[in-house]
Amino acid sequence: MNVSAKAEEILEALWIAVEEQGENAAHLSTLGVGPDDEALAELQRRTFVEVRGDRVYLRKEGRPEARMTVRRHRLAERLMMDIFDVKGGAGNAKACELEHLLHEGVGTKICTLLNHPTTCPHGNPIPPGKCCEDAKRHGEVGVVALTELKPGQTGEIAYLSTDEPKKMQKLMSMGVLPGTALVLNQTFPSYIFKVGHSQFAVDQDLAREIFVRKT
Ligand SMILES: [Zn+2]
Ligand SMILES: [Zn+2]
Repeated sequence: MNVSAKAEEILEALWIAVEEQGENAAHLSTLGVGPDDEALAELQRRTFVEVRGDRVYLRKEGRPEARMTVRRHRLAERLMMDIFDVKGGAGNAKACELEHLLHEGVGTKICTLLNHPTTCPHGNPIPPGKCCEDAKRHGEVGVVALTELKPGQTGEIAYLSTDEPKKMQKLMSMGVLPGTALVLNQTFPSYIFKVGHSQFAVDQDLAREIFVRKT
């Protein structure tokens, strides 16, 4: 059973204090909770944390959950920034909503989509998942811009970046959609690729905004 959103926030703050700032515990005030907090009680019941006085300790039973929570949060931040192009405060608020939705499977897909990032947009480390270790072992490149492909190579469209929404909408209306297979035929003077039976020519700027998963 998943812990509540509030409990996740506590675990996250606790992980940062203990793992990244070298504290051995966090004060209740740092975590923003009172001694009778419901979410804190939930974490104690699950033996994830131990409360002594006004200090909260992360128990070894709680470490995997805390680590995954931090990972989800920072992946969500990357997703907001890199894919949805939402920055600043709005991005952070959205990332907080999103992180609770990134259960294990979804998190792995997003991590792969983002090419297993090692840091969040603030430069904080993203604890690696199994997908990151596998990718490293297999030298997998994940998702790259169309400009990284060589003529004759194939890929599956992962996503379209949105810097030129008008042009993108036009491409999408013609069938250039995430999930579809593509073959790159030519890179000069323009990028020519085939999706199904249709052929498309785009300039380099636009080709940079079409992201594909190499196949
Ligand atoms: Zn961050
Ligand atoms: Zn990964």
